[in-house]
Amino acid sequence: MKKKFSSRELFELRNNIPVEMLIKDQLQLPSKIRDGFFRFLCPVCNEFQTAVNPATNLARCFRCEKNFNTIDLVIKVRGYGFKDSVLFLKNLIGIVPIQDTVPSIAKLAAGIGRPMT
Ligand SMILES: [Zn+2]
Repeated sequence: MKKKFSSRELFELRNNIPVEMLIKDQLQLPSKIRDGFFRFLCPVCNEFQTAVNPATNLARCFRCEKNFNTIDLVIKVRGYGFKDSVLFLKNLIGIVPIQDTVPSIAKLAAGIGRPMT
């Protein structure tokens, strides 16, 4: 079964799930507050030279010089593929699939008894 995700869905997963909550509560990476900033154990280098940026909702490792969005983190920490990582995140917030416009047009046409052929 093939499943495609719209860029809008992916945008919402990257931006609407607080990355700090994801790291701490869902992925349960070791984390701590140091100097008033949230730090997490980098899944790549296992160091705490990290931070999260609430403005962009990205987690950053200064040692790896890498930014991780929510999807990247699930891929890295859980070892899932892209699709499974997206599904994992969708389950977290229970996003309702964004309605395609095509089925509603088909429904409308059926409603007036003139199916488009
Ligand atoms: Zn790192």
